[in-house]
Amino acid sequence: MKDYHICKCYRCNHKWGTVNEEPKRCPKCHSTKWAVPVKTGESSPRVRSVSRSMIGPDLMKEVVRRYAEGESCTAIAIATGISFSDVYAIVKSHYAGDHILV
Ligand SMILES: [Zn+2]
Repeated sequence: MKDYHICKCYRCNHKWGTVNEEPKRCPKCHSTKWAVPVKTGESSPRVRSVSRSMIGPDLMKEVVRRYAEGESCTAIAIATGISFSDVYAIVKSHYAGDHILV
């Protein structure tokens, strides 16, 4: 005796019981792609990552200048509107090895 199992159609959500291991098509909507999930990712907005490349060279210079004048990373982040992690990364890249004033 064959196993009786339940199939579910991704197209019309129809469920049916069958002994067929791989039914060719959905008995309700007759789709041959009943076992293939419907793609939904195409209309969803792409995840945008805000990277350091958004910060222009002028802004990076200002960060370095402010830091050289004695401002902390926190103060620079507040003054320039750049996120702290980005300010820290810029300073760190200019003062590699030094203790960074946060
Ligand atoms: Zn169907």
